[in-house]
Amino acid sequence: MVPTESEKESVLSEELRELAEKNQWYIENRWGVEEQQADAKRVADQLLALANGETLQPITPEDNPLPDLSDLDFQGTFTPPKWQIEGNDFPIVGRKFSKAEFIEYVKWVKKNESYHWAPTGITMHHTGFPNLSIRPNGFNEQHMLNMRHGYKNDNGWSCGPHIYTDDHGIWVFNPLSRRGIHAVSYNSTRYGIEMLGNFDTEADYNHPRGVSARAHGMFAAAVLMKHAGISTTKLNFHRHDSETRKKCPGSHVNFSDFEQAVLKIVEQV
Ligand SMILES: [Zn+2]
Repeated sequence: MVPTESEKESVLSEELRELAEKNQWYIENRWGVEEQQADAKRVADQLLALANGETLQPITPEDNPLPDLSDLDFQGTFTPPKWQIEGNDFPIVGRKFSKAEFIEYVKWVKKNESYHWAPTGITMHHTGFPNLSIRPNGFNEQHMLNMRHGYKNDNGWSCGPHIYTDDHGIWVFNPLSRRGIHAVSYNSTRYGIEMLGNFDTEADYNHPRGVSARAHGMFAAAVLMKHAGISTTKLNFHRHDSETRKKCPGSHVNFSDFEQAVLKIVEQV
């Protein structure tokens, strides 16, 4: 069917809005990063082309850009945050860490907490639901408490995934020194890292916030390899679990590209 004028218009305005939002994000959050300025320029060119009635070439961001690794040296003395929920009834850390803080924290846990399990690997996930638009500002501490409540009361679980990442940082959810729940076949041996977004959709996969959540996920995995004794050969995706039919962490995410990016970060943390 040939789209009507008003259908064409609504597709156009949706495209315009998405591009404008993307550009606003680049400008507000990543202006200091040179390649993001180039991205913002490309988006501006597209907006102009759209305004002139031209057809758009899709913008394909580099699949797995590395996170900014320029400032990983922690200044001062690191004090680990208090867990939001302590004790043995579904304890959660529930705190956010910057990249530099996360390195210090992983080292601190390794040295100071007694481990209730012996992790040997890492499994990556996407959150799927919630997706990016449901969490416009990423996670907060209340979200951590709400997830614990849901896992405990709706799923009947006594623990959850170890880490959540969003476009702002790395959240430790399940204490790293304890076994979690995230993938049937891997719960007893692997850390679970959940990246905010639904990467079965192009909208979340290509959005700079989605790219950033994945970059934080790669970073977290690399730090666990470097500082928590996880082998660099032991990264996998939830979809590698024969017990699931999910495409987690999303059909757009390519495993070997992702793994290569993680291994590059390992050398720098
Ligand atoms: Zn998963």
